[in-house]
Amino acid sequence: MKNTPFENIQKRIDSAAQILKLDSHITKLLLTPENIVEKTLEVETSKGKKSFPAYRVQFNNARGPYKGGIRFHHEADLDEVSALAAGMAIKCSVVGIPLGGAKGGVTINPKEYTEADLEQVSRAFAREMAPYLGVDKDIPAPDVYTNGQTMAWMLDEYEKVIGKNEPGMITGKPIVLGGSLGRDTATAQGGVYVLHTYLEKVEGGVKPKKIVIQGLGNAGGVAAEILHKAGHSIIGVSDSTGGVWSDAGFDPALVMKNKEEGKKLGEGLKLNSVTNEELLLLPCDVLVVAALDNQLREDNAGQVKAKIVLELANGPTTPEADKIFESKGIVVIPDVLANAGGVTVSYFEWVQNRQQYYWSLTEVQEKLKVIMVDSLHEVMNYQKKYMSSLRGAAYLLAVHRLYEAMRLRGRK
Ligand code: NAD
Repeated sequence: MKNTPFENIQKRIDSAAQILKLDSHITKLLLTPENIVEKTLEVETSKGKKSFPAYRVQFNNARGPYKGGIRFHHEADLDEVSALAAGMAIKCSVVGIPLGGAKGGVTINPKEYTEADLEQVSRAFAREMAPYLGVDKDIPAPDVYTNGQTMAWMLDEYEKVIGKNEPGMITGKPIVLGGSLGRDTATAQGGVYVLHTYLEKVEGGVKPKKIVIQGLGNAGGVAAEILHKAGHSIIGVSDSTGGVWSDAGFDPALVMKNKEEGKKLGEGLKLNSVTNEELLLLPCDVLVVAALDNQLREDNAGQVKAKIVLELANGPTTPEADKIFESKGIVVIPDVLANAGGVTVSYFEWVQNRQQYYWSLTEVQEKLKVIMVDSLHEVMNYQKKYMSSLRGAAYLLAVHRLYEAMRLRGRK
């Protein structure tokens, strides 16, 4: 039987702990969520009274308050939310920001409900979870099918419960409510900083590359624009409707314009059509996966022709595909590093809320670059020392930091 997402990440943490020869009692704690909060949200919706299961998994707070997004999805369940919570603890540790790991979820198909219904669900979540949240306790953020508006409703409801202002209890807020400049481009920008630093280290400079991008949302769409402006050749892109490609390269802004206007991606452009499955197998230098999890698997990894896979999505590569990539010499820049720019600027938002003083976009981007570049260097030091893949090295670095924080606190 296949492992569940939570079992997969537990295996990755455990194997790092074995390599580092860590104390087994602390390792056991490191594999287990510290708190699991399960609630049922009873909401009066446009379809009548409905009940929605809701979760908040607080995985680890040894390095700082719990941190992680909330997703609204019909398949959200405790196993998935636990896996994502563990992933947040690892990610915050890889980039060395003083936050722990958590995740939240509501089992709901948001497409079936009105905006007013979703406001009530968001408020119910904040009310039910209020005792567990807080600026020094647990700080949520947006995730799949939640956004700045969701955060604004949750902040408002939480502040009603506690009777005072506390903008730093949640991040990913609209700018007028204390959001940070640069949060909307942070994930893509952070990924590009890491990719360019990797190329500088390994190839001695950043030469133009042929790049394919799966997913044209906040992560992939922004990455396409930044990479194109940086002089790379975008040769293929896709969204949920399918993909387009041309070996000569094209301006992704033209495709994005079609997407925004509700047209087909390649309408009016001299581009070839491809399915999403074919797009992943196109010959290119860099494949950016920025859509969904489980895209690169045992059944297709052997046919991937990219030299580097940049994971802007969470969990796009299965452990079986990882092994195939390693054997073929394909380098994977892992999600816990490549897409950590998002949580890093969420951390900046939290810092700005706490000090009630806000930074310019330039300041945010400069600080983001320092963290992403330093983190890649640290991961590559571990890669060299333990002769592992970049993913293996990122887990070794993160698990080591988490373990030290737990050991020094006397947790066992
Ligand atoms: P989004 O909803 O803005 O965009 C998702 C994109 O993927 C859309 O263009 C959609 O059409 C496309 N898509 C959906 N199904 C597809 C398919 N089968 N094939 C190809 N494309 C498909 O989401 P996002 O915020 O860009 O997030 C994408 C991934 O990045 C997720 O795994 C998310 O967890 C991860 N991520 C995002 C951030 C962030 O700050 N946005 C941070 C960290 C990780």
